[in-house]
Amino acid sequence: MSLNHVRPWKNIYRRKSRQIMVGKVAVGGDAPISVQTMTNTDSSDVKATLAQVIRCADVGADIVRISTPDESSTQALREICRESPVPIVADIHFHYKRAIEAAEAGAACLRINPGNIGDAKRVAEVVRAAKDHGCSIRIGVNAGSLERHLLEKYGEPCPDAMVESGMDHIKLLQDNDFHEFKISVKASDVFLAAAAYQALAEATDAPIHLGITEAGGRVSGTVKSAIGLGNLLWMGIGDTLRVSLSTDPEEEVKVGYEILKSLGLRHRGVTIISCPSCARQGFNVIDTVGKLEERLAHVTTSMSLSIIGCVVNGPGEALMTDIGFTGGGAGSGMVYLAGKQAHKLSNEQMIDHIVELVEQKAAAIEAEAAAAETDSDSVETLGDRTEKAV
Ligand code: SF4
Repeated sequence: MSLNHVRPWKNIYRRKSRQIMVGKVAVGGDAPISVQTMTNTDSSDVKATLAQVIRCADVGADIVRISTPDESSTQALREICRESPVPIVADIHFHYKRAIEAAEAGAACLRINPGNIGDAKRVAEVVRAAKDHGCSIRIGVNAGSLERHLLEKYGEPCPDAMVESGMDHIKLLQDNDFHEFKISVKASDVFLAAAAYQALAEATDAPIHLGITEAGGRVSGTVKSAIGLGNLLWMGIGDTLRVSLSTDPEEEVKVGYEILKSLGLRHRGVTIISCPSCARQGFNVIDTVGKLEERLAHVTTSMSLSIIGCVVNGPGEALMTDIGFTGGGAGSGMVYLAGKQAHKLSNEQMIDHIVELVEQKAAAIEAEAAAAETDSDSVETLGDRTEKAV
């Protein structure tokens, strides 16, 4: 990640981790922090599960996990993996055969704890299948299902017990000369999860999958995840994440992205800066922002938009956003482009016009990026030619 020299207080120094691949998605190292979610359809129902995977990918999921508890679900995985636009992680709990079937079916990663699947021979078989099929593995330690001997040793789930569990599972993979793994130490308690992740970050250089497990409903779980994951990400810990909410997986993806966007770690779509409820607003900000969020959901190009109710903060926010609208006139407001006053706009036309401006700006940014790529290609070609001429 590039450092901000003008505003150094915005810099986050990421922990240096090894990089692994989950299908085509790099996890760890300097790869973007990826966003994951998990389907909740019947995994053996190819049509419904694939449709949900695609909906998740459309809102930005980089990786999707599917639970595969039985043979019919690992069978269904074959078609799902083939058609999915994003890599699929097969969630295996205890049965090593499901892991082998999932690897054969095309899963990009297996979520499995090698210490939970039986003897060393079984672990070796799963590792062999993962190697043969280019699968990575996620070790998923959970405070709620720690091994009995660790609970006896530590008395209750605690950071040391979770990290010890994780390191034991890691050792089983390393003993089989397998290194394409990432690891999570999730807990539903924010303090426990945060402390466990910090200790884990010290104990291994493996990529870290972040999560506050069973965080809760849409509002409470979002807040809890933002506090837990937000703090860890701010410390530079975390290479991929899943926000666990009792709601649709698409919502988890959106929340995950918003956490990363808030910290400047990922950029996707339109970031809207807008007023809270306030009597000074010159138009209905809440209603407008709701409609704009809906109308702009298809825009994936990163840009900022300020929708501000009056001149108290409108011009100031517009200075820092790509497109701005400040209300406060009699039934109209001012449009700002790149921080500069551009033109007056009536409140009635505001939504349509702003959508148009955002779409135009997105097209311009994309065209500029494409031109820059062509330029760098031609510079490389020129470089090649110069090299040959020399
Ligand atoms: S900018 Fe104006 S409308 Fe918005 S919150 Fe501040 S005072 Fe209220």
